[in-house]
Amino acid sequence: MRILIVEDERSLADIVKKGLEEEGYIIDIAYNGEEGLYMAENEPSDIIILDIMLPVVDGMTILKRIRKTGIQTPVLMLTAKDTVIDKVSGLDSGADDYLTKPFFFDELLARIRALTRRNSGVKSSTIEIGDLVIDMAAREVRRGGKDILLSPREYALLEYMAINKNKALSRTFLTDHLYDQDFNLDSNVIDVFINRIRNKIDRRFDKKLIHTLRGSGYMLKG
Ligand code: CA
Repeated sequence: MRILIVEDERSLADIVKKGLEEEGYIIDIAYNGEEGLYMAENEPSDIIILDIMLPVVDGMTILKRIRKTGIQTPVLMLTAKDTVIDKVSGLDSGADDYLTKPFFFDELLARIRALTRRNSGVKSSTIEIGDLVIDMAAREVRRGGKDILLSPREYALLEYMAINKNKALSRTFLTDHLYDQDFNLDSNVIDVFINRIRNKIDRRFDKKLIHTLRGSGYMLKG
């Protein structure tokens, strides 16, 4: 999952980036509003974390602009001011949630997970695909009642496919949402990870859950 952070306090942006990367998210950062607006409109983000007080273009203006152009990416706004007026105007402008600074990192994580679920129509933090169970809060995977150990990258790919279950996901789409641009991209990186996950969740079972689509992609389907 790919998250765009628009925040001019560099130390805060960098700490959040580091923490989220450790959780397996791919992070883009914009340190001012102009860059943030450009990236929000051009990068394939799954969630945007948007500070309100920003140099050049403020967060509220960015939010209004991207909603006007039809970008529906969930937006979590950050504000230093815990004022009702900020919250109301932010929500009116199309923000999905709010977090007042300073915040605990765990709370940010919980909000991100909630936004992800809401956006994908997943009701709980657990996704079931046949007898495969993905617990997104605990980041645990089981199939047929047995725990399956995945590396952070394998987990990130499987979780993303689970959130988008029953949908055809092209290699390009998966690459855009799961890998850093600086990650030296071999076009078959997705295939490599899919093979590893298949070995862990599908190999010992008759019913396969990961389907290869003719042409270009994959689908997770029960
Ligand atoms: Ca700021």
